[in-house]
Amino acid sequence: MTITIQKFRRCTRCGKYGSAEKDFHRKTEGRNGLRTFCKVCISELNRKYRETHPQKSSKEYQRAWRAAHPDYYRLYREQRKKVTGAK
Ligand SMILES: [Zn+2]
Repeated sequence: MTITIQKFRRCTRCGKYGSAEKDFHRKTEGRNGLRTFCKVCISELNRKYRETHPQKSSKEYQRAWRAAHPDYYRLYREQRKKVTGAK
């Protein structure tokens, strides 16, 4: 009896079958080292994430966030002083 390598996987999101080699990302996570979502679904999810979280990781976003929360870093430092017990 030969060990059969699973060549086809079913995407848990769209339910479509695809080649484990071609249609799924190789990843260490997951039971057989492959993602449970197919490449199409992952790219779609990434696109949707970018749409709902515009420029979240960009410097522009961080600048805008800081401008919207001008006291955050000041308060953060004050809190840190209290926690660390610095005078
Ligand atoms: Zn899919």
